[in-house]
Amino acid sequence: MLKTGLMMDMPLLLSGIIEHAAAQYGDAEIVSRETHGPLFRYTTRECAVRAKKLANALAGLGLTPGSAVASIAWNNHRHLEAYYAVSGSGMVMHTCNPRLHPQQLIYIINHAEDEAVIFDASFAPIIKGIAAHCPKVRHWVCLADAANTPAIEGVAKILNYEDLIAPASEVFDWPSFDERTAAALCYTSGTTGNPKGALYSHRAIVLNAITICIPGALGLSPQEAILPVVPMFHINAWCLPYATLIAGAKLVLPGPKLDGPSLYELMEAEKVTVSAGVPTIWQGLIAHLDQHGLKFSTMRRTATGGSAMPLALIAKFNDQYKVDVRHGWGMTETTAVATMGVITAQQQAEWTPEQRHALIAKQGKSVFGIEIKVVDDTGATLPRDGTSQGELMVRGQWILERYFKGDASPLVDGWFPTGDIAVIAPDGVMQIRDRTKDVIKTGGEWISSIDLENAAVGHPGVQMAAVIGVKHPKWDERPLLFIVRKPGQEVSKDEILSFLAERVAKWWVPDDVVFLDALPVGGTGKVQKGDLRKQYGGVFETPN
Ligand code: AMP
Repeated sequence: MLKTGLMMDMPLLLSGIIEHAAAQYGDAEIVSRETHGPLFRYTTRECAVRAKKLANALAGLGLTPGSAVASIAWNNHRHLEAYYAVSGSGMVMHTCNPRLHPQQLIYIINHAEDEAVIFDASFAPIIKGIAAHCPKVRHWVCLADAANTPAIEGVAKILNYEDLIAPASEVFDWPSFDERTAAALCYTSGTTGNPKGALYSHRAIVLNAITICIPGALGLSPQEAILPVVPMFHINAWCLPYATLIAGAKLVLPGPKLDGPSLYELMEAEKVTVSAGVPTIWQGLIAHLDQHGLKFSTMRRTATGGSAMPLALIAKFNDQYKVDVRHGWGMTETTAVATMGVITAQQQAEWTPEQRHALIAKQGKSVFGIEIKVVDDTGATLPRDGTSQGELMVRGQWILERYFKGDASPLVDGWFPTGDIAVIAPDGVMQIRDRTKDVIKTGGEWISSIDLENAAVGHPGVQMAAVIGVKHPKWDERPLLFIVRKPGQEVSKDEILSFLAERVAKWWVPDDVVFLDALPVGGTGKVQKGDLRKQYGGVFETPN
């Protein structure tokens, strides 16, 4: 007969993280770029005190456990305090992506029934546009002091954060409740239809945050200084604001300055050792280093994901800049990291650098707590043979079961269907081949747009590449390649196509190349292929 364990049953709550950090690593530094420019610095202990003051202030505004508070904000220390104050009080921290269309912001704020909105001054124009359409919002709080809080036309009263928390007590007893209680809410980007809400529990976030700390993931400890470039407004900045405090590490928050020169300067000044961001951010950073012949003094590890990390960029980081790349996969519905690639001791010792880069370009193994499989159109599980490709399914401790206010569960036999096409190798390494909607179907065969993009970015004159499938009268679809050249490079269409012809199957070589100054990039750093399709979707209708 099974016996019941005789251990304490203490809930996994986010308030436990800030309490732990303040008690054990109270001197750990937090450095934050203010929205109006200067750097602000304080300790984790001071952060915890201000989080408690905010918790009292929010209660003073009449917000109660279960209330939802929206944020439209950069990665900065006040946003961090709100992360803990709101969720720690039993309220829901609804992070909103400022790059969503205003109509979508209005939709999600109303859908979430947010009672307060906290925002950075740079988003005042957004607030002006949406405030009148959000009837449930009773409080608008600017994350600034009085001097840096703008008046906003159409909003009668704007509170400023510093005046709001100044009179509040530093004493606040974090309530205890079921760890399955909602802590945070994040909506998908909603490229088709309305955005859908992923409502994260305390338990899911804590487990994910602990996982991120382990050496096989990001390896966080008090010896590290961590710069999350991934936004706190999307998927909790991959849970790094929690993981960093669990680890007792230094936290560096970049505010609104996400360009290559600003990030480099911050990394050097604050001796950042670990960073995390989407590949487009790293393109900008590496371009800056390349252009000015710079190198990193302290940076040694970077996590990336959100879209496929190009092989050429991995090689640059590894070989030229001596930075280890941890390439992970996840989505709004997976709280943060679900898979992560790491090199084993044997691969480190015996493999060539090229072999290692190729492995890291894949999306890695599921971390403990998560299971993955790929299935065919009938839902049958495909073999882990590295070639059978199908839809990636995921289940685990921090995977969405049902959308916020959603009717039907999206699960299929208890698994979440991701909409990504993947293969899994016998050793468990997963590779995303495409989004279901991006994969190119040509003459009955499939071409992976990710593989083609990866190959194109390998050309020394190419900064960024995107491939879409375009309707074709004979082949169903054919690939069309978009290229952004590196500054000062004059690479031609013929050069690109012959470069690709040496690297991919003949029938994969795109039918045409379009050179652009920039690719359309959406709110979470992903190339907006929908925009490209809209504009170029008919170009092969009458092939020559
Ligand atoms: P979002 O929910 O907006 O973060 O988007 C999640 C989607 O981003 C996934 O379903 C994938 O299509 C894509 N994605 C995330 N990480 C990766 C990665 N490492 N490589 C390729 N695609 C990725």
